[in-house]
Amino acid sequence: MSSERRTAPPVLSVAVPLYNEQEIVPELVGRIAAACRGLGETFEIVVVNDGSTDHTLEALVRQSQDVPELRVVDLLRNFGHMPALSAGVAAARGEAVVVMDGDLQDPPELIPQFVAAWREGADVVYGLRTARREAWLKRTLIGGFYWLLDHTTETKIPKQVGTFGLMDRKIVDVLNQMPERSRYFAGLRAWAGGRQTFVPYERPDREGGGSRVGAQGLFRLARTALISFSKVPLRYASTLSLVSGLVLFLIGAWAIFEKLFTNRAIPGWATYTTLIGFMGFVQSLVLSVISEYVAVIFDEIKARPLYVVRTEYSGGRRADAAVAPAVTNVVAAEPHPSPAMAAEAVAAPVPVGAPR
Ligand code: UDP
Ligand code: MG
Repeated sequence: MSSERRTAPPVLSVAVPLYNEQEIVPELVGRIAAACRGLGETFEIVVVNDGSTDHTLEALVRQSQDVPELRVVDLLRNFGHMPALSAGVAAARGEAVVVMDGDLQDPPELIPQFVAAWREGADVVYGLRTARREAWLKRTLIGGFYWLLDHTTETKIPKQVGTFGLMDRKIVDVLNQMPERSRYFAGLRAWAGGRQTFVPYERPDREGGGSRVGAQGLFRLARTALISFSKVPLRYASTLSLVSGLVLFLIGAWAIFEKLFTNRAIPGWATYTTLIGFMGFVQSLVLSVISEYVAVIFDEIKARPLYVVRTEYSGGRRADAAVAPAVTNVVAAEPHPSPAMAAEAVAAPVPVGAPR
């Protein structure tokens, strides 16, 4: 069954990363499948289990018995939202790929509108959030982030769009080829370009508990976005040191002039204490900006795989062939730890891919 499926890629893939979402698996898969069936096209639902510690994997494998279009890509541990999303996009085989969050904040019922826009020639269709129901502080911080991003990056990254959207195969191929570890998905997708369309929608509240990404994760993503899409902080750092150098030179020249050509006492102590403090501040600021970039370079240069796939399930059992390794992807030949799953597993060894 698997080899037959592999020779005929579907028209549409829907890629969803999941981390500890056991309560909403049936509704999520049901609603995506219903939305896709209405299209009359072949489709697959690629759900990535990002190292969930609850029963998300079991719920997905059970669901895949009833939904033949469901493929479950199981990662070796929790790699985070962006890597899990990249795993889903790399595993997707459709001519068009929809990416969405799995907490039902991205309504699957929008998929037909995305596909219609794609059929009309769009390469990227974005779900545009018209109303944010989040708390005031979160909305304000997000507003500030988009302002900064807009004013410091050369790539025009659309505002108020998350990951939710559809991409044509040519955009997906570009994303899969991008080797970077620091992945701000919306930015990478915008970089790829293509004809773009927006489908507005009101973003509902999350179902099934609190955010899995969390405030810290969101800050990390904002930093990744700003550092990997903008050299402005680096440029400002050097401008700042140049300006402070000039100020220091002028003050120095003035002090020498006072000493050589006048008999006024030099107010040394106050001036130099202030100057030393100021220079210390500027230097540590510049160094901290540089170290942010060095940290990113450090991660990139190590070129570790972005995620590791344990195995794939479909039709209620472990697939006999694993996902084709993508540029940033390694497939591990490790059996599943859960005895129930291991019993279902097909004994065939899983191919090991190379990280780039
Ligand atoms: N997610 C994931 N790995 C993680 C954290 C989150 O795969 O380490 C998934 C999560 O299950 C959800 C999506 O990524 O489907 C978005 O997460 P969340 O809703 O927590 O993000 P938020 O809406 O708060 O930004
Ligand atoms: Mg969410």
